[in-house]
Amino acid sequence: MLKKTGVPTTEDIKAVSPSQERLNKGPVAVIECFQEIPCNPCTESCKQGAIQPMADINDLPKLDPEKCNGCGVCLSRCPGLAIFIVDGSFSDEEAIVRIPFEYLPVPQVGEEVMGLNRSGEELGIFKVNKVQSGGQKNKTYTIWLVVPKELAMEVRSIRLGGVRHGN
Ligand code: SF4
Ligand code: SF4
Repeated sequence: MLKKTGVPTTEDIKAVSPSQERLNKGPVAVIECFQEIPCNPCTESCKQGAIQPMADINDLPKLDPEKCNGCGVCLSRCPGLAIFIVDGSFSDEEAIVRIPFEYLPVPQVGEEVMGLNRSGEELGIFKVNKVQSGGQKNKTYTIWLVVPKELAMEVRSIRLGGVRHGN
């Protein structure tokens, strides 16, 4: 169930979280899609068959983390910006979180940006490791962010321009 705020509950997130073991193996999709709406680009875009075909277009997507190779194609096709790629194998201390981003300006590689949780709360300043365009007709960029491992399942959006006080 989504709370009235639109922020998913801890149970929602738990239900779609790959195991720690899978996260540590390498990149994997985390599909944080909790509203039954007629939408299926994620299933259609996955060439690995990692997202189960939907019996009904209103069904929620269901991921098989063992089939997912973390390619990120589904992330850039999701109109709800509900898919993230988490890679817990980046280093001993750090993970990569790939985040969909549709605003301007687009951050640059090496830029330090504010990482936010699902409620928009600040979690710290993190470095952009890579920026991928979605392609000519796709305005969804993928921002690769280096975060401490313990925040890999927390950081879900970014804000450019560092810390804002008093808001
Ligand atoms: S990241 Fe790639 S392999 Fe994994 S579910 Fe998305 S499209 Fe499929
Ligand atoms: S494409 Fe995105 S919004 Fe649509 S069903 Fe898949 S995860 Fe949900």
